[in-house]
Amino acid sequence: MAKNYRAELTGVFGCPVEENPTGVMEEAAFAAKGLDYRYLTIRVEPGALQAAMEGMRAMNMRGINLTIPHKVEVLKYLDGLSPAAEIIGAVNTVINNGGRLWGENTDGKGFLTSLQNEGVSVTGKRVVILGAGGAARAISVECALAGAEKVTIVNVTRERGEALVKLLQEKTSAKAEFVLWDRPFSVPADTDILVNATSVGLYPNVNEKPDINYDTIAKHMVVTDVVFNDPHTLFLQEAEQRGAKTVNGLGMLVCQGALNFTLWTGEEAPLEVMEETLKQEFGL
Ligand code: NDP
Repeated sequence: MAKNYRAELTGVFGCPVEENPTGVMEEAAFAAKGLDYRYLTIRVEPGALQAAMEGMRAMNMRGINLTIPHKVEVLKYLDGLSPAAEIIGAVNTVINNGGRLWGENTDGKGFLTSLQNEGVSVTGKRVVILGAGGAARAISVECALAGAEKVTIVNVTRERGEALVKLLQEKTSAKAEFVLWDRPFSVPADTDILVNATSVGLYPNVNEKPDINYDTIAKHMVVTDVVFNDPHTLFLQEAEQRGAKTVNGLGMLVCQGALNFTLWTGEEAPLEVMEETLKQEFGL
């Protein structure tokens, strides 16, 4: 049989993108599975996305991740969307199926999988989410679609929080409510899952934590954080001290990367390799 020298190309388009660690994790996964795939970290300036997407098609790239500032604009250049991506209104993963570009959002799905891996399901649960940005949007929609009973959005900027609640009410069957975050937030006693979906605590601001009354965190709650660098955030440390089960943001990052891997290759992702690679990258 003739040799095939052509590798399948994947990567990420973003700006800035230089510090995005996904490529190291995906390349380690491709190598571990013996797949001839590459993952390139590509700087695409604002305004250059259309050309980049045309380039992706022209070069028959297998798939691409999108990060800041392209997750919403990319919708214009796609041929189809997953139901969740359509509701969320943002795409972080594109799959090229023979020239047809299909968009998915794996952020919220990665979050759900990381909880499942710890034996936690959101079905029938009351979920409280701090923040209303891109991560909160993806997580809240997936929680609602997965059958959460109630989703509470807590945000400093009222308009952003209210808009997300409206979206949940219109597009999902979960109960949704907004709480304005204008003083230390007290976690309602009937909360099952508390999520920090803000960027508070992200490196280099590792000494910061969300402004909440930490004594309102109870043992029966599962407390999770999207911040992955450093994953052992002060927020999670406070929750641990109150006896709550915690799930960190590294798991979410690995799980969304694993979903991308499977969408592009059709193979099961080597989760341990991916997690170990990221830990090494972050010096953990
Ligand atoms: P956005 O900028 O879209 O949203 C940030 C949110 O945080 C907003 O709701 C903002 O509130 C809130 N916020 C920021 N600072 C504060 C503060 N001091 N007090 C209270 N609220 C605050 O960011 P993203 O949603 O894209 O990202 C958020 C975090 O999620 C980042 O740390 C990112 O690294 C992480 N992330 C992790 C992933 C993973 O796989 N683990 C995947 C995707 C993201 P307001 O609306 O009032 O401005």
